Amino acid sequence: MSDTRRTKVLIIGSGPAGYTAGVYASRAMLEPILVQGIEPGGQLTTTTDVENWPGDTEVQGPDLMVRMEAHAHAMGTEIIGDYITSLDLETRPYKAHGDSGTIYEADAIILATGARAKWLGLPSEEKFKGFGVSACATCDGFFYRGQEIVVVGGGNTAVEEALFLTNFASKVTLVHRRDELRAEKILQDRLFKNPKIEMLWDHGLEEVTGTESPLGVEGVRVKNVKTGEIREIPAKGVFIAIGHAPANELVKDKLETHMGGYVVTKPDSTETSIPGVFAAGDLTDHKYRQAVTSAGMGCMAALEAERWLSEQDIVEGKDETEPLGYGAPVDSAAE
Ligand code: FAD
Ligand code: NAP
Repeated sequence: MSDTRRTKVLIIGSGPAGYTAGVYASRAMLEPILVQGIEPGGQLTTTTDVENWPGDTEVQGPDLMVRMEAHAHAMGTEIIGDYITSLDLETRPYKAHGDSGTIYEADAIILATGARAKWLGLPSEEKFKGFGVSACATCDGFFYRGQEIVVVGGGNTAVEEALFLTNFASKVTLVHRRDELRAEKILQDRLFKNPKIEMLWDHGLEEVTGTESPLGVEGVRVKNVKTGEIREIPAKGVFIAIGHAPANELVKDKLETHMGGYVVTKPDSTETSIPGVFAAGDLTDHKYRQAVTSAGMGCMAALEAERWLSEQDIVEGKDETEPLGYGAPVDSAAE
């Protein structure tokens, strides 16, 4: 039999946006429930040094997220290890179905499901995933001690991964499709100074090559995007670091999205097109995608949820199961 939990505010996601929403919603005495998902702590648990979290010149990503979790918990957030598989947002209270069988009933929902690594979509990439192809250097770098490694991408993640992997690898080749990196200048400086890293400009990954039995990577075939020339690079590990896409599976058919799936929120707000449903962090942000901006949006979402809930409570005789319909306007002035 399925268990049902009732809460005023359900927070889905345990990255900086989710935990910050937990801190603020708890302090507003909303007794929130936060469901962590399969990556407790979110994307920062897949990195090492974080140098742009205010107040910490340098902090390890996983440590920062443990502290955020402890903070949200200490303020009163109930933190649950579960994964939401579907949402029912047509009638109130809203319902979230947990993989555990638990149904979470909530007056308001804060979506903070963040983003996930993108893949190139090559058959050979898929074939060798987990057997030499990875999207997480901090998770898998250790397996390539003394080996040659290829990293693909040109943003902050690719550069940080390449730098981190020099701790293990004999050589790292960073393959980028243009002749200019998108990464911050400070990271580029470190990259260009590192003698273990070779930069391969204007190249795209064509194929990951390797052995069948045992399944394992031996190298990559890359193509010069300007000349069409193909070359082979030996490597035991291939790290794909070409960006992240919003984790919008729960709401992509229910809420308006744009710019490749990011949930649309009202200007200067975390309100979505469904009243009482708020979205924060990388799920909504195609532009900044930083821990501090995600945390800021988590704060906004909790404050807006509190205001929205108090507006509902002052409406006498409100039927909690009343269908709201998508896009129904919240007009507090009319109420
Ligand atoms: P995320 O951190 O993506 O967390 C999403 C959460 O949602 C996860 O806990 C996941 O388990 C949960 N979730 C997803 N789906 C479900 C579901 N269906 N049910 C329940 N839970 C669910 N930013 C910086 O400012 N500084 C840095 O140095 C930095 N380094 C980075 C290094 C790497 C390698 C990467 C990948 C990113 C880095 N970033 C950095 C970016 C930063 O990590 C993100 O901007 C930030 O984590 C986004 O926070 P978020 O709360 O929106 O979501
Ligand atoms: P990103 O900034 O979107 O960069 C993705 C990179 O991959 C770009 O260089 C892009 O090339 C390349 N790329 C995309 N699709 C490709 C494809 N199909 N084939 C080959 N190359 C492809 O992503 P990110 O580096 O993961 O960063 C995501 C966000 O997290 C950013 O906002 C970033 O600032 C943040 N972050 C911050 C830090 C930090 O503050 N230290 C660290 C990591 C991440 P083009 O340049 O040609 O488009």
